[in-house]
Amino acid sequence: MNRFKAVFFDMDGVLYDSMPNHEFTWCHSFADYGITFNPEDAYINEGRTGKGTINLVFNKLYGRDATDAEVAAIYGRKTELMKTCPVAPMMTGMKELVEALRTKGVKTYVVTGSKQPTLMDKLWNEYGFDREHIVCGADVVKGKPDPEPYLIALWRSGEKKEDCAVVENAPMGVMSAKAAGLFTIAVNTGKLEDHYLTDNGCDMLYGSTEVMCREWIADL
Ligand code: MG
Repeated sequence: MNRFKAVFFDMDGVLYDSMPNHEFTWCHSFADYGITFNPEDAYINEGRTGKGTINLVFNKLYGRDATDAEVAAIYGRKTELMKTCPVAPMMTGMKELVEALRTKGVKTYVVTGSKQPTLMDKLWNEYGFDREHIVCGADVVKGKPDPEPYLIALWRSGEKKEDCAVVENAPMGVMSAKAAGLFTIAVNTGKLEDHYLTDNGCDMLYGSTEVMCREWIADL
């Protein structure tokens, strides 16, 4: 764990305990449209764009993509509900890990599909990530599970693939990182069984950020 020159962190479920909010808002915004969306679905599809998730559900149910109006309505409802959710706390140990890595000269980046406007300020104020060190939804065309977002982080870091690691909690995120050819550490902080992460080829798996951070910091 001490051989990496750059580490790319996913945000939801890795830096922040924000997945319960996404689970709640997805389930309720679909329910308002008479569509059943299970809590597990929120975790299976985590990392996709909002439109990507809605289209997947529509194709399964109706054999077609959602119209722009349907996407706007469902995603609009989700955004509305997000405003009523509690502020997501930082995941245990993550601030200490990010700071310990930086102290050792390791470059740190955030790679997230999120486009929340308040995101940049939050990541700067709480974790010290500036805009240059954040690859977000506004920077990508395809997004996870495509390798694109992690390839952008790799390019920005200026390091070689073999010197970089990714920390991910979601199946789509692991898929994206592995497709980019990067060493991928999965941390199962959600509601899915471990095989959702191992099936996508993660190189290591932890059951919590607390254990991962403790072991990683001890190894630096
Ligand atoms: Mg995540």
